[in-house]
Amino acid sequence: MPDKNGFTTTILHSDRRSSVEHGAIHKPMHPSTEYAFSDSHELAAVFQGKAGFTYARQGTPTTAALEVKVTQMEGGVSTVSFATGMAALAATFLTLLRAGDHLISSQYIFGNTNSLLGTLKGMGVDVTLVDATDIDSVKQAYRPGTKMVFTEAIANPGTQVADLRAIGDWCREKNLIYVLDNTLATPWLCQGVALGASLVINSLSKHIGGHGNALGGAVTDTGLYDWSDYANIAEPYRKGKPTSWGLTQIKKKGLRDMGGTLSAEAAHRIAAGAETLALRMEKSCGNALALARFLSQHPKVAKVHYPGLASHPQHERAVDLFGRGFGALMGIELVDDLDVFDFLNKLKVLILATHLGDNRTLVLPVAHTIYYEMGPQQRAVMGISDNLLRVSVGIEDTEDLIGDFVQALA
Ligand SMILES: *Cc1c(COP(=O)(O)O)cnc(C)c1O
Repeated sequence: MPDKNGFTTTILHSDRRSSVEHGAIHKPMHPSTEYAFSDSHELAAVFQGKAGFTYARQGTPTTAALEVKVTQMEGGVSTVSFATGMAALAATFLTLLRAGDHLISSQYIFGNTNSLLGTLKGMGVDVTLVDATDIDSVKQAYRPGTKMVFTEAIANPGTQVADLRAIGDWCREKNLIYVLDNTLATPWLCQGVALGASLVINSLSKHIGGHGNALGGAVTDTGLYDWSDYANIAEPYRKGKPTSWGLTQIKKKGLRDMGGTLSAEAAHRIAAGAETLALRMEKSCGNALALARFLSQHPKVAKVHYPGLASHPQHERAVDLFGRGFGALMGIELVDDLDVFDFLNKLKVLILATHLGDNRTLVLPVAHTIYYEMGPQQRAVMGISDNLLRVSVGIEDTEDLIGDFVQALA
């Protein structure tokens, strides 16, 4: 693969530049469950670590081709795909942490990830939630037993931007595993490898797939973390380069033992979607900025949370970290005398649906839906007010999105 090509060229030509089947420009969809061998020595060799395919729970040529693309996008060294973003997160935490280990996590995270951290606590992993926008608050949580730091690049749904670079520097100094959930920023805005991340997680269901027609997740190894001193790597995976041991364990335990495998069909759809990630992000980030600027001036909008606005608490940091844009997600709070549910019912272009990173613009009253289960106390910690609307901005024509807000707020 020539490494001088740009982001989109690299993804578009990725399949063609590895082993081509019948001249196909898309990696074919391989639904086969098992892979046969004509030579018994080869069969044994693949089970013993040689590259190849055995049983589809551990991956197929179709998922492998997608993994190559995600690795290229992230500038990493290798990737393992999963059935969903949550499967990727669960596999990472569950295969690398043990009872008694300490995890420092941002308090501004996706609600389901917060719930997953609760599961980890129940299994004896200590979890401290910190304000990851402030490096001192991250550092203060350190204690013997701290193994890992976790944060999202841009937080879902509050859009807080963690001090990603300072966290990377500190993790390197303390030899901690730095796990970055890059779902909202996407590798087009932000590559974890440049910020010192050890592992980068993407929900492929969101921007990378982009079309709302497939679920998937991925963990990408940046190659920066040396696992040789990490006690939780099992003996069989302490082979080859120590920088690859962590992902090997995530793949073996997370896919082979836990089975959260991405299907070939979903991988194929995600790979086709990924070809236009840069184009879609450019359009949706532009739409989001235009909408955020418009809404921040609107008399019926009390607050707009969007990293592209100068009023956002981490705006300067977002400019520094994400040169190309500020993401496609924003939080909106309407003025108190406006009924949020009435407003939502008037929308004609925006869709009431829980998802993000879709081509279509989606809106959701957060506290009443995806953050309902956790209750008001936890919502307060995560900075989620009762009237917060999450808007995931798509690629519609800008004036149609603004027009929909104009009529629904009138
Ligand atoms: C949606 C999301 C996930 C989970 O991804 P799924 O593919 O829906 O399982 C994880 N992290 C963030 C930040 C997300 O927005």
